[in-house]
Amino acid sequence: MTDSTSPGSTQHVVVMGAGPAGLSAAYELTRHGTPVTVIEKDPHTVGGIARTLEFMGCRFDVGPHRFFSKSAEIEALWTEVLGDEIRPVSRLTRILYRGKFFDYPIRASNAFLGLGPVETARCVASYAQARLRPVADPKSFEDWVSNQFGHRLFEIFFKTYTEKVWGIPTSELSADWAGQRIRGLNLVEVIRNAVLPASLRGGERAVVKTLVDAFRYPRRGAGQMWESVAARLAKAGHGVRLGEEVVAVRHASGRVLSVVVRDGRGATLDVLGSEFISTMPIRELIAKLQPVAPSIVRNAADALAYRDFITVNLVLDRADVFPDQWIYVHDPGVKVGRIANFKNFSSAMVADGGLSGLGMEYFCFDTDGMWGWPDAELLDLGRRELVTLGICRADEVKAGMVYRQPKAYPVYDGEYLGHLAVVREWLARALPNLWLVGRNGMHHYNNQDHSMMTGILVARNIATGAHFDPWLVNTDAEYHEEERADEAGGGGGAATGRQVPQRIAS
Ligand SMILES: Cc1cc2nc3c(=O)[nH]c(=O)nc-3n(C[C@H](O)[C@H](O)[C@H](O)COP(=O)(O)OP(=O)(O)OC[C@H]3O[C@@H](n4cnc5c(N)ncnc54)[C@H](O)[C@@H]3O)c2cc1C
Repeated sequence: MTDSTSPGSTQHVVVMGAGPAGLSAAYELTRHGTPVTVIEKDPHTVGGIARTLEFMGCRFDVGPHRFFSKSAEIEALWTEVLGDEIRPVSRLTRILYRGKFFDYPIRASNAFLGLGPVETARCVASYAQARLRPVADPKSFEDWVSNQFGHRLFEIFFKTYTEKVWGIPTSELSADWAGQRIRGLNLVEVIRNAVLPASLRGGERAVVKTLVDAFRYPRRGAGQMWESVAARLAKAGHGVRLGEEVVAVRHASGRVLSVVVRDGRGATLDVLGSEFISTMPIRELIAKLQPVAPSIVRNAADALAYRDFITVNLVLDRADVFPDQWIYVHDPGVKVGRIANFKNFSSAMVADGGLSGLGMEYFCFDTDGMWGWPDAELLDLGRRELVTLGICRADEVKAGMVYRQPKAYPVYDGEYLGHLAVVREWLARALPNLWLVGRNGMHHYNNQDHSMMTGILVARNIATGAHFDPWLVNTDAEYHEEERADEAGGGGGAATGRQVPQRIAS
């Protein structure tokens, strides 16, 4: 069967994926009156990784999602769509380590108070040693952070969490990432931040990235933004087609002509279009091309790697569990990396105020044994770890639900930029009406604002004939025309912004 969706119009855009990138593109296209069809494989909901799940009246993001952007345009779009439904939240997040809570970002006085006099003395001695005899030319994350904070503080506050998230020993992670993530932060800076008012610290500019302490959040979770955009699209006659997976992308004579979608009952349908926007992982997109892409392109796409993610979402029969929006779990004895308490983002995240909804985050690869564990085993692990951490009693956990998010993080290994360049160069030449946007769509470790901006700019290109290059949108969702992609090496490096660690080059 064939579906051309809007016969008679010369332009029809097919968007693959109803996450922030795809929905922002579709929303922008409808503003320009351009017909669009959005295809989403999830049968239930939109929002992609920024969706919100519901279970027993509790709402859970797939890992907590703050709404924070340096782009005024993106902030304005959130306000336009959500109005009063998006609200400011004062951030409270702490580190849990050996039964004690520590402020995050770390404050020296609080850290030393929590660690006690003996451990504090060890930390100070280890810091003094690092200042007197720093590792010359630090190459690893471990050496770089130890130089800034001392080895002891590194072990307590940086090592375990980083290894849980990335699954790589910190001694093997490159120092570059630490330099970018915690640039301008060292023990002296931490003490300054703790004791001086902002005005004496140099105002806005002195606030380093890790210290942002307020953000906005939709009343009913991150997914509310995307449910609202989808509702607006439906009102404009462009409802998202849920439960339809793109299984093939057909092309001929240098143009994509259609995508083949399969619905939940296995029926397939050809959806025709004039322009195609993909937010699906590059590896999958290339594998779906018919006829197949050249082997060099397929190999490059196949070499792109991802890290996966499980959330164990538990409903607790207790009104107050902890006051933070989330806590980082630094204890090496448990697998959980972070625990979000969604009612502290918004009270509307729980229907019954006597309950709490906790999202426990487990970072893994889909090849790890844990990915395949039965849900019951994962729920049991979550409950046991809450008890081990002293967060609640086992009998307070009423029920729970597991959510597996494949390809949650595009991995930046030593070769990814080269592989990406091969794919981009071939697609730009061979299929100019196929546009890549978004997180896995561009293999870019980003926040929603970057995905949104890339979708919006591509929509403008299609609708108005503009010439924005989505690869020049940086991680802060700013568009920098003057940044040439090739300046960063391999194409797109500057725009990609290395925000994830890499192994040290051997
Ligand atoms: C743990 C975690 C925490 C995060 N925290 C924040 C935060 O605090 N703030 C923030 O702004 N961002 C945060 N992010 C990032 C945010 O989730 C992403 O930037 C955003 O969701 C990316 O949007 P996207 O549309 O590019 O991709 P996705 O969200 O991945 O959406 C892609 C969509 O395409 C669909 N799709 C894929 N293949 C097909 C196919 N073959 N056919 C049809 N549909 C398909 C998918 O089902 C999905 O719905 C976080 C991410 C993670 C993992």
